[in-house]
Amino acid sequence: MARKKTRGKRQVVGDKMIQNRERRFSIDVPISEAHQTWPLASTAKEPSIFDQVQITYHPQENITYKKKGSQIPGAPHLVFDHVIHGVDTKGIPFSRKGTGFWTSTAKMGAPSFSVPSGPTYEGGTCVAANKAAEGGGKRTPGEIYICDRCYALAGNYVSPNNTFCHEAHASWVRQSLEADPTGALLASSLTAALVDFARLPCYGLPLQERMGLEFGVWKDRRIQVPWYNPVLDCTDWANAIVVPLPPGKPSFGDSLDFFRAQKPRSGQIVGFFRIHDGGDLSVGPSQKHWKAYLNAWATVAKAFPHVLFWLPTRVWIFPTMLKALRQAASEAPNLIIRPSGLNAFMSPPEINGLSGSTGAVERVAPWTFGELPLLSGGVAYTCPVGTRFSYSDKYKKRIHPKSCQMAHCRACWVFPDLPIAYGFKR
Ligand code: SF4
Repeated sequence: MARKKTRGKRQVVGDKMIQNRERRFSIDVPISEAHQTWPLASTAKEPSIFDQVQITYHPQENITYKKKGSQIPGAPHLVFDHVIHGVDTKGIPFSRKGTGFWTSTAKMGAPSFSVPSGPTYEGGTCVAANKAAEGGGKRTPGEIYICDRCYALAGNYVSPNNTFCHEAHASWVRQSLEADPTGALLASSLTAALVDFARLPCYGLPLQERMGLEFGVWKDRRIQVPWYNPVLDCTDWANAIVVPLPPGKPSFGDSLDFFRAQKPRSGQIVGFFRIHDGGDLSVGPSQKHWKAYLNAWATVAKAFPHVLFWLPTRVWIFPTMLKALRQAASEAPNLIIRPSGLNAFMSPPEINGLSGSTGAVERVAPWTFGELPLLSGGVAYTCPVGTRFSYSDKYKKRIHPKSCQMAHCRACWVFPDLPIAYGFKR
């Protein structure tokens, strides 16, 4: 993979990786500017194609698609003020007038919002990645700095489609913060987009996939997700998946038990949400922007008391951001801010006022992982995905779980105090 080619003190963002892989993938550049190879990501030194585009949030009900004579709503979108014409590296032109709003991953079973990963000087939003790459003192000699092996700088994350979407998200966030530096405007757009996603059917997202996202409306004491019923030509409802929770914890039988204990009212929005399955809070040039962005998410979390928002971050390394993180966590108890460790296999930070931290646990043999010791004693809970076998009722045998659902685990959300270690290969 391209990332492995460049692993070391420097990292690369999608643009650079796409260029590395250009024989396989395309680079999106405006046709008129093709010879300049404008990047998707903007940095302090280099503007991106999105700096030429005004991006606005379009709620779901404003977009309709014709299918079999019916007009049905589409998912929330970001829309550009003019069409971006591109040409791929093979010279084939294409055009785009917007991009999707929410993202999701097969592993999480929850919607998410992603921004570009990687150090900020390469257009990413992970300022902690700068700290090692620039020799900023955060890298422990002889240890592996986790950002060097970031999952979000590899695989599907660096495909042109995903890179395009994530860069558009970051530009839209920056433009929203320029329009309203308090973050209130951004928070209202994010809130509206979540309401749309929970309450209206999504065109283009198969029902099976939508049911797999445990996020919807509380009806009949279950989480229900909307879908378009072409026979009745109206919105219908299906039950979202329910994740059984691991035994032996201060536990609920499954995620449904967990929400029932919270006693949401019928019609309220309920579920799990991941803030950033790639990227971090450093979306703008200064900490003022990062704080406004954080505050926007805290405002969103307060608007959805029965949704658990999981925010992993490394901006805790900055004292002023740490203060802001603590403040946000105290204002919105359903905003689970997990400080992420910096070096693999080393005890992660334990920070008062924030949720349990996360770190990386080492693989010592095929399908055998060690334990991650904690500074306060004991060991972190090891994420079962990729590290253990579990019994599958569906396949009637032991399998390697590939998702939270298959692993019967929602620990990252429902056990906020639990420090968690993810499997990591040297
Ligand atoms: S610890 Fe559990 S909830 Fe967290 S990512 Fe792993 S399987 Fe999912």
